[in-house]
Amino acid sequence: MLNADLHCHSIVSDGTLTPTALAQRAKANGVGLWALTDHDEIDGIAEARAAADAAGLRFMAGVEISITWSGKTVHIVGLGVDEHDPDLCAGLASVRGGRERRGREIAESLSQAGIEGAFEGAMQHAGNPEMLGRTHFARFLVESGIRPTVADVFRHYLVEGKPGYVPHRWGDLEHAVKWIRGAGGRAVIAHPARYGLTELQQQALIEAFKDMGGEGIEVVTGSHTPEEYQRYAQVARHMGLMASRGSDFHGITESGADLGSLPPLPADLKPVWYDW
Ligand code: AMP
Ligand code: MN
Ligand code: MN
Ligand code: MN
Repeated sequence: MLNADLHCHSIVSDGTLTPTALAQRAKANGVGLWALTDHDEIDGIAEARAAADAAGLRFMAGVEISITWSGKTVHIVGLGVDEHDPDLCAGLASVRGGRERRGREIAESLSQAGIEGAFEGAMQHAGNPEMLGRTHFARFLVESGIRPTVADVFRHYLVEGKPGYVPHRWGDLEHAVKWIRGAGGRAVIAHPARYGLTELQQQALIEAFKDMGGEGIEVVTGSHTPEEYQRYAQVARHMGLMASRGSDFHGITESGADLGSLPPLPADLKPVWYDW
């Protein structure tokens, strides 16, 4: 089966490698079809495509859009989008727009826990100041010696009930799917096991997503356990969704799964890339 890796991040959002370094790493790892899916931003696509072309690697432009659905943050991946589409670009800019203010609130909350200078410290780690996110704060907390690893930070800070947590309103599901489809892309629910949804909530999310024209769901992802691959393969079958596969790679020392390293999709599922 084609080694497709359709989810990863560069320095344009919260990854640690450039789009060029990602393309080269994907190629070296045997990826046959690659997509860059930075959070809320398509600024890395031109470089990624050029580097993929130079490496002889098939490439699809992608993006991972942050939305708020039923009070929860959910991520919707768009694959095969035209990164010049004006509605997509304007929509992503509107989603990014709240991040600086949120970053200041995160820093204020950390300050109340005795951690000073977090806004400036996190900004030092952000390759793109419009895309300041929790991962950059996590790297600052590691650098400051407050916790040993980024994964450990996310157990003690930046999450609900802990210092540095700030509720935030992202985009809408309907808009995200509309922007992706309007830009010629295919919409995919990212890492569905990560949202803490009940069975009923998840069903409602998928039904709303399908009504809006959403077509796919991630099954084999670096953000799922092997047991969750099986569970979401069943969801894809029952709900009539295409299946996607991607490492969600953020960097060499931080990510569970390397580019192109995950098991294949179960053979009976229809891959989101079936007609590409
Ligand atoms: P943001 O969009 O600013 O809320 O940041 C979300 C990002 O934080 C995700 O895309 C991950 O890169 C990172 N993240 C969230 N939870 C964890 C976790 N438990 N361990 C490591 N990284 C995490
Ligand atoms: Mn991330
Ligand atoms: Mn995500
Ligand atoms: Mn991701």
